[in-house]
Amino acid sequence: MDVSELIDGLNDKQREAVAAPLSNMLVLAGAGSGKTRVLVHRIAWLMQVEHASPYSIFAVTFTNKAAKEMRTRVEETLRMPVGGMWIGTFHGLSHRILRAHHREANLPEAFQILDTDDQVRMIRRLLKAMNIDEKKWPPKQIAWYISARKDEGQRPKDIQAYDVNEQLLLRVYTAYQDACDRAGLVDFAEILLRCYELLQQHPTLLRHYQQRFRHMLVDEFQDTNSIQYQWLKLLAGQENNMMIVGDDDQSIYGWRGAKIENIKRFLEDFSAETIRLEQNYRSTANILKASNALIQNNAERMGKNLWTDGNQGEPISIYAAFNELDESRFVVSKIRTWLNAGNALQDCAILYRNNAQSRVLEEALLQEGLKYRIYGGMRFFERQEIKDALAYLRLLSNRQDDAAFERVINTPARGIGDKTLSHIRDCARNESMPLWYAAKAVLEQKHLAGRAATAVARFIELIEQLDDKITELELSEQAKTTIEYSGLMAMYQAEKGEKGRARVENLEELISACGQYEPPIDEDFSSPLQGFLAYTSLESGEGQAQEHEDAVQMMTLHSAKGLEFPLVFMVGVEEGMFPSQQSHEESGRLEEERRLCYVGMTRAMDKLYISHAESRRLYGQEKHHSPSRFLRELPEECIEEIRIKTQVSRPVNSGRFSASVTHAAFEDSGYNLGQRVLHAKFGAGTVLNYEGSGAQSRIQVNFDDVGSKWLVTAYARLQSL
Ligand code: ATP
Ligand code: MG
Repeated sequence: MDVSELIDGLNDKQREAVAAPLSNMLVLAGAGSGKTRVLVHRIAWLMQVEHASPYSIFAVTFTNKAAKEMRTRVEETLRMPVGGMWIGTFHGLSHRILRAHHREANLPEAFQILDTDDQVRMIRRLLKAMNIDEKKWPPKQIAWYISARKDEGQRPKDIQAYDVNEQLLLRVYTAYQDACDRAGLVDFAEILLRCYELLQQHPTLLRHYQQRFRHMLVDEFQDTNSIQYQWLKLLAGQENNMMIVGDDDQSIYGWRGAKIENIKRFLEDFSAETIRLEQNYRSTANILKASNALIQNNAERMGKNLWTDGNQGEPISIYAAFNELDESRFVVSKIRTWLNAGNALQDCAILYRNNAQSRVLEEALLQEGLKYRIYGGMRFFERQEIKDALAYLRLLSNRQDDAAFERVINTPARGIGDKTLSHIRDCARNESMPLWYAAKAVLEQKHLAGRAATAVARFIELIEQLDDKITELELSEQAKTTIEYSGLMAMYQAEKGEKGRARVENLEELISACGQYEPPIDEDFSSPLQGFLAYTSLESGEGQAQEHEDAVQMMTLHSAKGLEFPLVFMVGVEEGMFPSQQSHEESGRLEEERRLCYVGMTRAMDKLYISHAESRRLYGQEKHHSPSRFLRELPEECIEEIRIKTQVSRPVNSGRFSASVTHAAFEDSGYNLGQRVLHAKFGAGTVLNYEGSGAQSRIQVNFDDVGSKWLVTAYARLQSL
């Protein structure tokens, strides 16, 4: 291929980076300025012009998706396969080195990777053996501690434990590491640290790799943590060339140990030149201007300018929804319009702050018959904690559900091990009966040892007592009671860190989903619970699109990094959601949230919708939020506010079944959803909801000063404003 082809489609600055003489280089630039494109072209340039062999190139990025895409883009640019080239993630490439040199790394040939769940199980076992109370020291929290230490490159011997708590953590870390080493197991953080130590302790090996990987390239460098940085530095040695590309404004993993300072360290440690790219090719002028204005509110920045010669584009539309249902219907209606105009669903993305937010959106898409695909996260009803809770509910409504039985019999752990279970399974098989009845039979025949028998008897009692407790309750109370009484909630509350919090939130969200569930009128279910279970199994199977199908892309803001879409929806942009509540509590987190908002907005190429809801039911609670401060930071000339008066409201529970507020009910009331009213005592507010009729009717108003209240309509004496 012609060399000019490699640089023709680039601007001057990009060309300068792609065609630079061999040296260390930082390409620092804002979103959509072509950093990833430069990296890909640089690889092609190295091969074409510098005659670098594919074996001498080492390119690292953060996700498998990005790594795969990078390889495809290099092959397309070069028009040939580059199989021998090392392109991968930090973990993937370290793992590869460890496999090749397992002996030197003191690992058995068939060493296994311990995933997070295995890791926690192992820690739990150790705690028991060490007589440490796992309620005080949740295994998840300890796993988090160990990974954080490893991310910093610290072994137990490197840690000074100043207080008794840390001494205890250190003891567990030591015991855990011994156990892993004995069993030939490595966890995720270990992969990197072990690879780093391997290279450090074996100079010949290190030299081999240093001599091989003459050209190193790293994308999204702003999100590297300490050990990743050290690892890169070691591999690069004195002679190799490294090009890193990144954007300090897009550093969003500080909460997981990433260090923006690594960019500055790189400049010093590698005496690198900086090239800045300033032209944005991705977004319309409006989107770009608004994103630039937003990020300028951060104090700690390396400073960049971005401009575009592209179209002004449409203004960013900001939709103030009444509640999360209204918000999701708005999003879906806009996607429908987009589709009807002849566009593809896959060109459109919905981005949210937390995984739990996806459920309402999934439901709305499903109702409208639109396919969707969730990236970097599981669909709501497929998440571990949700499946656990549903399994209890399934067993409660049908004792013959063996899969549900298997899932919950020892979750949370109640001392029923594999041996006991296989007893029960054998009995079920021999007698051709469901596991539940087999468990009872095994107990009666006294086939189990004392402790196992007690544990099984307790489990059976638990389910039967739960059944008694919930029969008379309404659906959301049934779910709540089950989740609490079974011990699931306590188990997940004991998990520390972001993930534990997310699981608890998801469970609360499940309770909330039960509250909103309306059994279909035309189907005959013996109870709302059965209707709900049928609906969840349908939903977990049907909604998500197949691999090849055109589908709306849904993901968290974190997983959207590096990607781009013509049409983007950012939902739930409210104080307390985004920026998140926690970000007020820790210093520096607010700026990280703003960077996340910048990442989200700059994913949009042509059109961006941002929405927020006045009231939102999430995690089982209804809350009122004001629009996010980030919205106030957007220049007025770039945005348009939309407020449509739709008659959308939450279903109101009446007894076991719920009925939704009808259009007519509202008309009866003489009020409109969203209408401004005045109350003698509470002042001005906005009508949010209405239920019942005549003298019994109640109205919900979100008062500007005192928040939301339900009032008896007849006594409220509201004045229209
Ligand atoms: P992010 O910070 O979000 O990762 P980035 O800086 O890596 O963004 P790219 O994804 O490489 O940006 O590029 C953004 C878009 O602009 C892509 O669609 C890319 O093909 C296009 N682009 C980049 N440079 C040029 C150019 N010189 N001419 C035309 N299009 C370009
Ligand atoms: Mg990129």
